[in-house]
Amino acid sequence: MNVEGLRSALPSAVVAPGDDGWDAARLFHSGIGEPDAVVRARSVADVQAAVRWASAVGAPVMVRGGGHSAWGSVPGGLTIDLSALADVAVDGSLVSVGGGATWGAVAHELAAHGLGVSSGDTASVGVGGLTLGGGIGWMVRAWGLASDQLESAQLVTAAGEVVEATDASHPDLLWALRGGGGNVGVVTRFDFRAHALPSVVFATLGVSGDARPVLRAMRDALSDAPRDLTVTFMDVPPMDPSAPEGATITACWIGPDEIAARAALLPLLALEGVTEIDLGVRAYPDILLDAPDFDPAQPMPGFVGGNALIADLGDDAIDRLVAFREAHPASVLFLRSLGGAYGDAAQDSTAFAARDATWFAMAGAFDIPGMLDDDERAAAVAEWDAIEPLGVGVYGNFTTSIDPDWVPRMYPPATLSRLTGIKRAWDPENLFSRNHNICP
Ligand SMILES: Cc1cc2nc3c(=O)[nH]c(=O)nc-3n(C[C@H](O)[C@H](O)[C@H](O)COP(=O)(O)OP(=O)(O)OC[C@H]3O[C@@H](n4cnc5c(N)ncnc54)[C@H](O)[C@@H]3O)c2cc1C
Repeated sequence: MNVEGLRSALPSAVVAPGDDGWDAARLFHSGIGEPDAVVRARSVADVQAAVRWASAVGAPVMVRGGGHSAWGSVPGGLTIDLSALADVAVDGSLVSVGGGATWGAVAHELAAHGLGVSSGDTASVGVGGLTLGGGIGWMVRAWGLASDQLESAQLVTAAGEVVEATDASHPDLLWALRGGGGNVGVVTRFDFRAHALPSVVFATLGVSGDARPVLRAMRDALSDAPRDLTVTFMDVPPMDPSAPEGATITACWIGPDEIAARAALLPLLALEGVTEIDLGVRAYPDILLDAPDFDPAQPMPGFVGGNALIADLGDDAIDRLVAFREAHPASVLFLRSLGGAYGDAAQDSTAFAARDATWFAMAGAFDIPGMLDDDERAAAVAEWDAIEPLGVGVYGNFTTSIDPDWVPRMYPPATLSRLTGIKRAWDPENLFSRNHNICP
């Protein structure tokens, strides 16, 4: 791809093969990408120039927000890196965030105002990808998805124009941005309605022995727990052999009321095999994790399994999920509680449709050479294939690729049909195709 035209439109913003800093410019959390060129946008005007150039030469566009998607390394095309557009401005309860900001920065800025937005569990994850795909965070049961808190947005469309999407001006665009991925444009500013958040109570509970009765009790407890409580069950193999064995439940309670948090967790704390490791009041930014940077010496292993948004977490689903984890020593199992405000939104009110889900589950075996042979890989695929239909949809933000196969599993037909119509109107040439692509 000849990028000279792009260089003259955007002097000093373009990085291409052979340029200083090429490797750093194409680095994603999951690996080193293979784009034809990267534009490090410093302004909305830079984004417009990059989009117009890509449209003129027919180069597909990949947007880099926080760089944490598993598919950042899709080869070819133009990557528009938004990481310099990362301002966070608070005005009353409205927070306006640059399209390349990360959630840690947002949480810090909001905490200074006693406010918070439900995002995800990790500080370095981008506001862009997480919000556009939905965003399941620590306050999902109280405030819904990250995208449910999105009030309006500024985006650069495939035509290179700047559009303000609000419920009044462009309701279809805003609907598509709440779960439809980066299909309709490059979002240069997100405006969220923040909530009062003085602090949280955060707890870590250890789980030993058979996880099945614990998961059943966790499911039952969460079915009528206060919305202020969100929990995650996590069973990850210890990477360090000296680390303690076993799974954990982490729980977040909105606000500093430790007594109320403890009362809500009592059904879990009373269980055999569950121990309190830690429970206390914390500042919300302090509970966010930090994901290590990509290490070329230790590339991310493949992942055989999947995820499902589950409406009815029956005993059979729990048994299958635990059996998956037990069958594969190097595997992970996550369960996150949904329901509450997440389920208040009507199925068709946003592009994220699976509102009847009460749990999000993810299980996968690490595909590490020497650890997973062909038979085990095939077994893991078959086991997961039997679990996924127990759910009502797949959560795109936790898929490992942008294989077109995922799209109909993420969106029910009516949602996909509406998204396709909006895509046709705003990106008829499919410039923004390096995502869970809605084909115009
Ligand atoms: C360590 C880790 C922890 C995670 N924790 C959570 C969690 O707690 N909850 C959760 O819901 N998800 C979580 N995720 C998944 C996360 O939501 C996705 O990986 C998401 O895609 C990351 O967004 P990003 O902006 O960092 O990634 P990027 O790779 O930069 O972007 C992801 C996608 O969004 C598009 N995009 C990004 N920004 C924009 C923009 N401004 N305009 C238009 N398109 C854009 C990109 O084109 C791309 O297709 C986690 C992922 C990791 C790796």
